[in-house]
Amino acid sequence: MKIEISEIAQLPTEYGEFLIQAFKEGEKEHLVIFKEPFGDAPIVRVHSECLTGDALGSLKCDCGPQLHFALETIAKEGGLVLYLRQEGRNIGLLNKVNAYALQDQGLDTVEANHQLGFSADERSYEMVEEVLRYFKIEKIRLLTNNPKKIESLEGIEIVERIPIVVRSNRYNEKYLRTKKKKMGHLL
Ligand SMILES: [Zn+2]
Repeated sequence: MKIEISEIAQLPTEYGEFLIQAFKEGEKEHLVIFKEPFGDAPIVRVHSECLTGDALGSLKCDCGPQLHFALETIAKEGGLVLYLRQEGRNIGLLNKVNAYALQDQGLDTVEANHQLGFSADERSYEMVEEVLRYFKIEKIRLLTNNPKKIESLEGIEIVERIPIVVRSNRYNEKYLRTKKKKMGHLL
């Protein structure tokens, strides 16, 4: 995998001051938002892009609050957010909107993906190992509620799982239940 890597720049945010660095892999541009010092095993959040949740404040999922929780935590304790551009569990924006339309008709998130010919989760995490190797990080404390993510990061030593605590709302209750029941999330 050929990866192009940007310079490091400062990014002050409402959560604190971070440094950012972009990693370009083919057409996809990912972002690493980080705060040093990292310590022995830095806190890492692997966050997959969700435009509707991250930027528009969508209540259909919990991505926005999860991202904000991660940024707040890392601003306080140091660590990295790996922001991976794999929108809609990597089915892309157009398919995600089609999946939402199917959900409007009563399908859950997993059923909608299947109806569109995708698996429940099309994401990949190869980039994570590349980035951590680049930063010379061997051990991490992973911020996640998703045990599958722990399995898919098999090349990395995860010394601790830190849960993300976000509140549900009346729009995403069913979605969160489906993630728990069908996708094994710990909530
Ligand atoms: Zn989302």
